[in-house]
Amino acid sequence: MREEVGQCKMCGTKILCLDGFFNGIIDSDGLLTCFLCDSVSKGEEMEGCQGNNV
Ligand SMILES: [Zn+2]
Repeated sequence: MREEVGQCKMCGTKILCLDGFFNGIIDSDGLLTCFLCDSVSKGEEMEGCQGNNV
C-alpha cells in the first residue's frame, strides 16, 4: 500500500507512507522532510528507511 502524505519542505519530493512505514520525517512544525534532506541538514549520512517511524 502506498499513500502520499505530502511533500518535502526542502526539495519537494513526495513523501509516501509505504505499508505503514513513513518515508520521511515530520518536524515540530508539522512540516515534512524526506530522509535525504534530513540527513543533509544534520550533516549525517543515512540510508534507507530506518528509525523516525511515526
Ligand atoms: Zn527532501
